[in-house]
Amino acid sequence: MAALGARMGMTINFKPTRAAAQARLAEFLPAAGAYAAERNFVRPGNDHVARLSPWLQKRLLLESEVVAAARARWTFPAVEKFVQEVYWRTYWKGWLEQRPAAWTRWTEAVPRRRDGLRGERRSAWEAACAGRTGIAGFDDWARELVATGYLHNHARMWFASIWIFTLRLPWELGAAFFFEHLLDGDAASNTLSWRWVAGLQTAGKTYVARADNIAHYTEGRCAPAAGQLAPAAFAITEEPLLKVAAWTEAGSWSAAAGGAGERVGLWLHAEDLAVEIGELAGENVASVNAVWPTGIAGRAGWGESVAGWTRAALGDGATRAGAHFGVVVMGGATDDLAAELVEWAKTQGLRRVVAYRPFVGPWLDEGLAAERALGAAGVALTWRRRAWDTELFPHAGRGYFPFWERVKAAG
Ligand SMILES: Cc1cc2nc3c(=O)[nH]c(=O)nc-3n(C[C@H](O)[C@H](O)[C@H](O)COP(=O)(O)OP(=O)(O)OC[C@H]3O[C@@H](n4cnc5c(N)ncnc54)[C@H](O)[C@@H]3O)c2cc1C
Repeated sequence: MAALGARMGMTINFKPTRAAAQARLAEFLPAAGAYAAERNFVRPGNDHVARLSPWLQKRLLLESEVVAAARARWTFPAVEKFVQEVYWRTYWKGWLEQRPAAWTRWTEAVPRRRDGLRGERRSAWEAACAGRTGIAGFDDWARELVATGYLHNHARMWFASIWIFTLRLPWELGAAFFFEHLLDGDAASNTLSWRWVAGLQTAGKTYVARADNIAHYTEGRCAPAAGQLAPAAFAITEEPLLKVAAWTEAGSWSAAAGGAGERVGLWLHAEDLAVEIGELAGENVASVNAVWPTGIAGRAGWGESVAGWTRAALGDGATRAGAHFGVVVMGGATDDLAAELVEWAKTQGLRRVVAYRPFVGPWLDEGLAAERALGAAGVALTWRRRAWDTELFPHAGRGYFPFWERVKAAG
């Protein structure tokens, strides 16, 4: 593993703090102008790409901050490609909010697909996850993912394509393997990217990894034999996904937290860990609850490193939130978050709890259970949205390029 580690750059260190995110952003900015030319290369350490995704996914660092920093350092044409990639995250999030069935369908399929693997298929799946397929590159990326919690975008695309079209394994299980190990694992970016490679996201468009493309962009480090990879895709089909627009209609999301003199508590979760900046920062918060729900990792399918990293990130967000609002933060862990929040609201005499609404995914399930329990106890839960999401998500209903045109038109 040491030789592989050196070759694949396994020294990557994602410290789960906002300070570490800011340091990495500052370190990357001088290279952001070369991103368009360099981004497709996969190199040990991958210093030529931002490597900011674990922090962005938890909002330890905001998309708006990354875009502003890149645009302040460079002219727009010099960083357009980089900025465009940051907006891909927003696009996928907005798309999934409008078609949440893409998420539920995937979560329901994973155990079914896993149980359905028999004999050779099961062995092929185990070999793929362990990096023992004999396919150059693929095996390295499987191990790199498990060891570091990160993969370069191009390696993710090749990996997913080989998983689906060469190894003929269910795409849902590939997405689950990523979600178990990626520190940036995101319900929208992960599920929808796998769907995109599989040809489900954009009708008629699949992504087929080619041996010469892999050899070129890994600068010869990974060179699968041409005959090792499937030369073409096959069709995967599904029932159409229903589009919903409920989130755009919930006006309370941008409402103020409560009336004057009302005691308001803040629920902090790991999908927005910079509450001291933006919409919630001005609230008169009497108490913060950042208790870790112990069951979330099992329900989400996160491995130990992902769970540990996420919990540590929550701790970092909690420390900053406590300092910002000047209150003591409830920490620790519980096996029933909803009951914990009700108890906390009672003890603290809270009339209302405010939180950023988690996006479609594991934290939303926690949030909705908490909303029901708090409501039953007579405590209102006010969901808020960042303006970034409120403004951009409605444009994510179709393809990326109309979305990007809207972003550019808004300046
Ligand atoms: C099969 C597959 C699964 C993926 N799963 C995830 C995931 O779970 N979480 C995740 O954050 N990204 C995912 N991506 C998107 C992308 O690969 C990562 O965001 C990117 O590699 C992160 O590295 P970076 O920070 O160096 O990115 P850079 O290339 O430097 O980009 C900067 C930032 O822009 C955003 N970004 C860039 N490309 C994309 C993209 N294609 N889609 C969405 N956001 C993007 C990320 O927040 C990233 O940190 C996936 C891509 C594929 C093909």
